[in-house]
Amino acid sequence: APALDIQRIRADFPLLSRSVHGKPLVYFDNANTSQKPACVIEAVDQHYRLHNANVSRAVHLLGEEATTAYEGARDKLAKFINATSRNELVLTSGTTQATNLVAYSFALPRLQPGDAILTTVMEHHANIVPWQLVAQRAGATVKAAPINERGELIVERFVELLTPEVKLACVTHVSNVLGTVNPIREIARECRKRGIPLLVDGSQALPHRPVDVQALGCDFYALTGHKMLAPTGTGALWAKKEHLDAMPPFFGGGEMIREVRFDGTTFAEPPHKFEAGTPNIAGFVGLGAAIDYYRSLGFEAIHAHEQNLLTYATERLREIPGLRIFGEAAEKEAVISFLIEGAQATDLATLLDLQGVAVRSGHHCAHPLMQFYGVPATLRASFAFYNTREEVDAFVEALVKVRKLLM
Ligand code: PMP
Repeated sequence: APALDIQRIRADFPLLSRSVHGKPLVYFDNANTSQKPACVIEAVDQHYRLHNANVSRAVHLLGEEATTAYEGARDKLAKFINATSRNELVLTSGTTQATNLVAYSFALPRLQPGDAILTTVMEHHANIVPWQLVAQRAGATVKAAPINERGELIVERFVELLTPEVKLACVTHVSNVLGTVNPIREIARECRKRGIPLLVDGSQALPHRPVDVQALGCDFYALTGHKMLAPTGTGALWAKKEHLDAMPPFFGGGEMIREVRFDGTTFAEPPHKFEAGTPNIAGFVGLGAAIDYYRSLGFEAIHAHEQNLLTYATERLREIPGLRIFGEAAEKEAVISFLIEGAQATDLATLLDLQGVAVRSGHHCAHPLMQFYGVPATLRASFAFYNTREEVDAFVEALVKVRKLLM
């Protein structure tokens, strides 16, 4: 694939040209949320200017246009992740709503006292806490598979933990803290052998790599739109049709019913059965535009550029004395967590902000992972395809400078 024309791409992102504290912005908080290209912003704007109406309710033209645009986003997303059918995609407000839907609608009815849900030490709280909430109700437990010092899942240990009382396994595709890419196909194969359904948290995978849910072989794939160029409050749960058919609805209300009677309500077919109430229509119109944008660049070129940035930034950071990187998996996406000996993560991030550099400091909604490494927080620089080597240089220079201030 031809290399990306980064300067042209950057011109598509209005926010990237602003300054902060009088310095040109270096935005390295992409794992938290991505910036949005003009085509996404304009799609949302055009929706409200020209097509705004509620979905699936009106016969008037605007209602049809809004419904077509909203359902069109479902089609695009289905193709984007290679779902066998658009009806396997429940549109949600993000990954968190998707994992909670599976927790209450799939896991809870299946859990008996003594059962377990298996997850891993590297998960985001959105892939831990919902399982704890339903396990507690059912008298079940949540187990966590360990990782090694390099931040890789110990797959043999994960497989050993797939015992008969495990009713669901939940693993992230890519770690939001370490960048680790987990071997989902292998994990899915082991789960299938034992008849254990597998949920994959795809939040940090989709912004960086092509995802094919059929090839992965999982049962559920949760995703969030705002980390992949789309508006906040958009996301989805992909699930195998057999699971969606078997799951009772979680939210009740309009748009999810066939007929409501006080002597018994019947529900719409999936995915609408799980989509009560008026959705984030404009947001999904934006998600559709975001997917078109990804397709126009292609993941081959995106991945090549991001991996270059990752290698370069890793090398440059290693020049800094006392800097420790967390996460050295053989396969990782462009995320670098680190600490500098003798300096607090939050102090460094605050001073970096004054230099125009936006990175995240904190626990990254991954307390168990911080406990594993025995640190309260890390700094995290996370890259997108619109970032450049020059920005990495500016970041490293700023870091060297603020480190001196704190020493
Ligand atoms: N899982 C992972 C791995 C994440 O990085 C995030 C977002 N930080 C989430 C889940 C939650 O996504 P959302 O807040 O959009 O629901």
